[in-house]
Amino acid sequence: MSATISGTPSPEGTPRRFQGDTLVIASHNKGKVKEIAALLGAYVRHFPSAGDLNLAEPEETEQTFIGNARLKALAAARASGLPALADDSGLAVDALDGAPGIYSARWAGPEKDFALAMEKVRRELTLATERKDDRARFVCALVLAWPDGHVEAVEGYAHGHLVFPPRGTRGFGYDPIFIQDGHGITYAEMEPEAKHAISHRADAFRQLVARCFTPPEA
Ligand code: IMP
Repeated sequence: MSATISGTPSPEGTPRRFQGDTLVIASHNKGKVKEIAALLGAYVRHFPSAGDLNLAEPEETEQTFIGNARLKALAAARASGLPALADDSGLAVDALDGAPGIYSARWAGPEKDFALAMEKVRRELTLATERKDDRARFVCALVLAWPDGHVEAVEGYAHGHLVFPPRGTRGFGYDPIFIQDGHGITYAEMEPEAKHAISHRADAFRQLVARCFTPPEA
């Protein structure tokens, strides 16, 4: 999915493209900032983060991935006077009506205990369907916002199924219980480069680059 949500429409409804050399990453998470800077390094020169600029972190009060990414991107763009990019991601389990969804990080509790979060998914799935329906998807929403309130939004997906007990030691979060369609091992069993080439985040960044970024002149 990709959509222009609100703000000043671009001429003839075309997406607004990023221009300039500085893009604020609306995150205080150093790992995320580094990953995004690497993914967009061919198109943008400087990537100050919300943390570098001492911007306040807004509370994620929306009910959708795009809503929360939009809130973070707009807050950073308005506070910095520069275009800003935010992401929001998580695991959505079909038989749990999309849970943990936007609450994916929160299911791990304040200790960020993902063994606990994965066990909670297993328990809820057993209660809901005795694990007969194990379909799930990872979702990654990206929102690019400008200080005048214009936003461009995309959502990327990785479709697959869940396995228990968790397998593999690489990656993070729910990686050890997710097998993407067409693959026989979990994200946590894959080489990181292999995961990064096929994941929900890869899908979202491909869409965003096609929509908003232009490679520098050769
Ligand atoms: P965010 O930083 O608010 O977007 O948090 C997203 C949460 O979703 C993370 O803490 C993870 O629990 C989960 N998540 C998102 N992407 C992935 C992934 O690629 N692998 C495993 N878990 C993920």
